[in-house]
Parts: sequence; structure tokens; C-alpha cells
Amino acid sequence: MDLKQAATERFDAVEAELRDISHWMYHNPEIAFEEHNTSARLVEFLRAQSFEVEYPSFGLDTAFAARAGSEGPEVVICAEYDALPEVGHACGHNIIATAALGAGVALVGAASELGFRIRVQGTPAEEAYGGKVDLINNGAFKGAALSMMIHPSPTDVVDPNFLGVAHVDVEFTGKESHAAFAPQLGINALDAAVQAYVNISTLRQALYPTDKVHGVIDYGGGAPNVIPAFTKMSWYVRAATKDRLDELYARVVACFAAAAAATGCSYEVKSRGHTYTDLISDPLLVDLYLHNSEKLGRPMGRGADGDPSAAGSTDMGNVSHEVPAIHPMVGIESDPWVNHQKEFASATILPPGDAAIRDGALAMAHTVIDVAAANRWDELCTID
Ligand SMILES: [Zn+2]
Ligand SMILES: [Zn+2]
Repeated sequence: MDLKQAATERFDAVEAELRDISHWMYHNPEIAFEEHNTSARLVEFLRAQSFEVEYPSFGLDTAFAARAGSEGPEVVICAEYDALPEVGHACGHNIIATAALGAGVALVGAASELGFRIRVQGTPAEEAYGGKVDLINNGAFKGAALSMMIHPSPTDVVDPNFLGVAHVDVEFTGKESHAAFAPQLGINALDAAVQAYVNISTLRQALYPTDKVHGVIDYGGGAPNVIPAFTKMSWYVRAATKDRLDELYARVVACFAAAAAATGCSYEVKSRGHTYTDLISDPLLVDLYLHNSEKLGRPMGRGADGDPSAAGSTDMGNVSHEVPAIHPMVGIESDPWVNHQKEFASATILPPGDAAIRDGALAMAHTVIDVAAANRWDELCTID
């Protein structure tokens, strides 16, 4: 039998169970680094499918590495499964995880026939922190031939635009005082936070459309009649390239410094989690995925045809700087809702969400089969 047909049949045998797992995840969301029940459930499935599972793996409690195949180049399929605070699986990582499981199961026969290895790699904490950067640092992608994952979205795009992002907190410290009786003795840390917000809002007119700076005040003071002595803000700084991100980051920090100087506060900048890089989509994998997805009845758009500023960020970008990779966005007909809205979470368990698991898993599996069957491993892009 044709290897792609055989892979499809292996997927067919587990599709109903994968749907159940996706829906269960929707009802039981766990946020970054708290994905204990979720990772356990994914591991249980992979063990039942005869994968050799290391759990925890690569130094993270909620990461796992599920392996099949004994020799040849290693293909790493990434499974994300963290949810968002308050809005649950509003980024659809329940679809990512189950599509990764499905691709892994689909590829087991081809791996032994064609001589390659599969690893379904559980990658915690994508929505915050950047778990994949720890995994990279702990060797999870060392020597891998390629890596891939799919991500649900409103539309189908094989090589989406992603921005680099740095997560930065700033704390302002002043001096408390009675706000009416002795305000002249106070140094107002809320004024510093407000100034910082206004400085950055003013900076925005000088930004490229692909530069993004957005933040919140986490703590703005305790009582109206006490001049706030301490405030804390969290910011994300995004840009299309690492160099631009470094430049922009420095300008944001200058906004904090100016606010501190104007108000007499001291300030401290604290980086939070890892910096995510832009995403490099491997051209051969993009071509093969496009072809395979189209054959499954799902034609894909191209990132270059879209608005480059309509982009988020992903730690899969960092992986793409280590090994040849793709991260296609698979549409779930969520319109008008988009990722990170609670209505998007609801859409992940409707039939178009279930279809994304199937099409994403099969397009990934068929793409790997194309590379392995024609021995095209050497044509994947070289990473410096
Ligand atoms: Zn997200
Ligand atoms: Zn996401």
C-alpha cells in the first residue's frame, strides 16, 4: 500500500480519540507550566500507541518526549498544550497537541519502512515564558533533521509572519506620604508608571507597523490617600528582526528611565522569560506542506500575501533558528473571532476545529513521508 495511504489509515484509527482529547483539553485548560493533567493525558495516549515516552523530559516537569523508530534522521513534531489565563484554550493549543499526536501515530509505519525516527515533543509554556527555549538549551533539538507543528487560526497560511518578542517588567519605587496632609513629602510611583505609559504611547508614532509595544499596570498603588511608593508594569516589545527588537527595546527602556527621572523615582527593569525570535519557514517543507494540504482539500495562503504587521510571536521561532522548521496556521472558520478571544476557544471544538486536527496531522505526516521517501533530507535549509 502507498505509504501516505497507510499513514492516513493509521490516523483514521485514532481520530475519534484525538477529538475526545482535544475537547477534554478545552474543558480542562491549564496555563503555562501548570499543564500537569494535560501532559499526563497526552503521555497516556502515546504510551498506549507504543511510543517510548520520557516524561518529564529535557528538564521541564510538564514536557515529554515520545519516540518511535530506531534509526535514521530524527523528525521532531512539537505539541503545545498550555492555555491562557481567563480565556482557556483561546489559542487552540488543544488542536496543536492532538494534531501532533495524530501526525506521530500516522508516521510510525513509514518510519520503520523508510528509516527515520519520530519524536512527538511536548513543549510547555508557549503563551508565557518560552518553554521551547529551555528545551533548546537542554538539547531537545540537537541533531534533529527537522521540526514542525501546526497552529489553529482564522485562516490557512503555510508560512505565517511572526515577530520577535521580549517580555519586560518595570518597577518604580518612590516614597509614600499622606496624599492630602503632606503630598510634598511623597514621591509618586504611580505618576512614574503613567508617565512611562504616555512616553511609550508617544513613541508609537515613530514605529514601523511591525513594531509593537503593549503593556499593563500590574500594581498601581494601594489607597487613594497614600501616595503610591511602588508600582509595577508588564510590557511586551515586538519587532520583525532581532536587530530591530534590540533597538526598540532600548527605546522602551529609555521611556521608563525618563519617567523615573521626571518623577524622582528609581526604577528597575526585569526581563521575564525568554526572548522569542522571528520564524524562518523552511522552503522545501513549505512547498511540500502546501502540496499535501491542497491534496487534502485545504489550499493554503502564503505569509508574503498577508499583512506583515498582523502577526503574533511564537517560541517555535527560536526552534526555526536551530533546525529546519515549519509552523503552518490551519483555519478553523472562527471568523469574526481571532486567537485569544474566548469565542475562538469555543470554535476549537466545533467541526471545523476537529477538521484542523485531521488536516494538520495528515499534511505534516505526508510532508515527512515526501522528504523521507525521496531522501531529500540534504535539501532542507542549512541553519548557521
Ligand atoms: Zn497564543
Ligand atoms: Zn498559540
